[in-house]
Amino acid sequence: MEIKQAKFVMSNSDHKKCPNKSLPEYAFIGRSNVGKSSLINAMTNFSKLAKTSGTPGKTQLINHFLINEDWYLVDLPGYGYAKVSKTLRADFRKIIDGYLLNRENLLCTFVLIDIRHAPQKIDLEFMEWMGKKGLPFVIVFTKQDKLKPGAVTNAVDKYTAKLMETWAEMPPYFVTSSETKVGLDDILDFIEQINR
Ligand code: GDP
Repeated sequence: MEIKQAKFVMSNSDHKKCPNKSLPEYAFIGRSNVGKSSLINAMTNFSKLAKTSGTPGKTQLINHFLINEDWYLVDLPGYGYAKVSKTLRADFRKIIDGYLLNRENLLCTFVLIDIRHAPQKIDLEFMEWMGKKGLPFVIVFTKQDKLKPGAVTNAVDKYTAKLMETWAEMPPYFVTSSETKVGLDDILDFIEQINR
């Protein structure tokens, strides 16, 4: 899919105030600093669509972007950053859960995982929760360029093994880099196929 147009529509913390549900949407979520803003910017070819920042935990709201006048890309708050207070984390979670459970037009959520890190409890628990709620998701491994090819394969294998301890099968996954743009077209093609 070619991105011809990408525009910011709105930011809010209440799913009830999100745009009406007439278009399909796809959400992107992950721990702070996972590379979510970079991925959204690189994928849409708009360098400032999502704000990238050295300050983890900055994106606190549900951000809707309209792509090609055809579907919404939704940037969700980064979760699990240790330096934000417990209360703030609980607030994030409430916002995220409210959104995820109430958007019938949300067709898939992309859960971002930094490929360099061993499986983290917070990500695994989040995916477990998505599964229990019957919410479709796929995994996006980020920052592929930071590892040698062999190490990439190793990391994916390790992640798969960890997930297979509780899941019957590995969800679809993408291995990506916002630096080299590896895997980004695959995500867009995946979205295009669902949209059809
Ligand atoms: P967010 O908090 O998840 O939105 O993360 P950002 O997009 O702000 O990225 C966090 C840091 O990781 C920044 O310093 C980015 O430059 C860096 N980063 C993000 N994606 C990549 C990538 O694909 N490759 C490399 N080498 N660095 C990346």
